[in-house]
Amino acid sequence: MLSGTSEKTRSDLGEPCVLLKLGEVVLKGKNRELFERRLQANIKAALSGFDFKADVRQRHGVIAVFLPEGTDAETADAVARRIADVPGLVWIHRAWRVEKDPQAVLKAALALVEGREEIQRKATFAVRSRRRDKRFPLRSNELDRLVGGEINDIYGLPVDLKNPELTVHIEVDRDEVFVFTDGIPGHGGLPVGTSGRALVLMSGGIDSPVAAYRMMRRGLRVDFLHFSGIPFTTSESIYKAYALVRALDRFQGRSRLWVVPFGKAQQSIKASGQDRLAVIAQRRLMLKTAEEVAHRIRAGALITGDSLGQVSSQTLQNITAQDHAVELPILRPLIGLDKTEIMAEARRIGTLEISELPDEDCCTLLAPRRAETRAKIEDLKQIERRLDAEDLAVQLADSLQEYKLDA
Ligand code: ATP
Ligand code: MG
Repeated sequence: MLSGTSEKTRSDLGEPCVLLKLGEVVLKGKNRELFERRLQANIKAALSGFDFKADVRQRHGVIAVFLPEGTDAETADAVARRIADVPGLVWIHRAWRVEKDPQAVLKAALALVEGREEIQRKATFAVRSRRRDKRFPLRSNELDRLVGGEINDIYGLPVDLKNPELTVHIEVDRDEVFVFTDGIPGHGGLPVGTSGRALVLMSGGIDSPVAAYRMMRRGLRVDFLHFSGIPFTTSESIYKAYALVRALDRFQGRSRLWVVPFGKAQQSIKASGQDRLAVIAQRRLMLKTAEEVAHRIRAGALITGDSLGQVSSQTLQNITAQDHAVELPILRPLIGLDKTEIMAEARRIGTLEISELPDEDCCTLLAPRRAETRAKIEDLKQIERRLDAEDLAVQLADSLQEYKLDA
């Protein structure tokens, strides 16, 4: 981005930093400080892989991450990209911090424009200034004119205030001025941890990773629970779940994957003879087990990737039968989405190609020829009495294994 920048212009630019625009956090009234503090902690944690300590500072309505002097452009870009994964932010800008002096601002703006490819093609530009500190000697439109006039004089770029191809942003804060051009869009939402903890039922499929992402973005820290068909299937589905959790970990850090060997329980369900109800009975047993695990890890909700009507277990009646299996709320962020929408999101967050790898899902052990679309709760309860489902759920939770993500 700034590879053509000479030593001289570098010193004109000031100090490298990353400027972050907050999403809904700014609406949080009295809790705002709590949210901002959580967001800062999440940003620091996200940067723990870099070999320097970034200085994260709250400014008026924005967060600034100051980088050590002499940080090269590639590292600064990498920092910005890493921070862009942290929920709660809407824009991430690679910026320069300069003194609160109009001449210093002008110099930095010119240095930023120098070497840009837009100059060759005489692209349109605009300067957009904002004064968060009204004591600055120039008003924002005066600053726009000062900087815009010089860029126009020196480089001959035409101004287009409506639809510029290049925008120079200038933001005057209490202690400094930030100057920047482009930005990376963030994921928006709320900082992970501000809504509590929940447990995601994580298959190796396309939907549940997207559901997990959506709820992390609403401020939940999530743990992941996978049911494998072991000992009647291979460990493939566990590897997939593991790979998915790794891919999702960048949104929250310190993710935990829990695996329950579910094959024998499935055999018992199958042996109960109610072929058409087997899938819903199995789903209810998964939920009961998940609820038991949730209590142990202090999670306040379960999350699934259900989407209304997508498969026979997801009819309104069958979803109702699942809700009745547990007391914890079941969050279903994908309930109203089409498969194409879910797939597009999976592609965007990088989980689709992992989900599309072949595996031996535990559900295939039970696939009946015709699945019930209108399961009656009384019939399910009858199967469960025979299975001793409540005890079985506790036993299954006892057989839980944690898969640690290596660094
Ligand atoms: P996915 O793509 O998430 O697997 P799906 O369209 O295949 O969803 P189902 O197989 O009916 O739909 O599963 C519905 C939900 O039940 C999943 O989104 C997931 O939350 C949960 N689930 C299904 N199988 C498992 C499993 N083996 N381990 C944990 N959760 C599961
Ligand atoms: Mg599935």
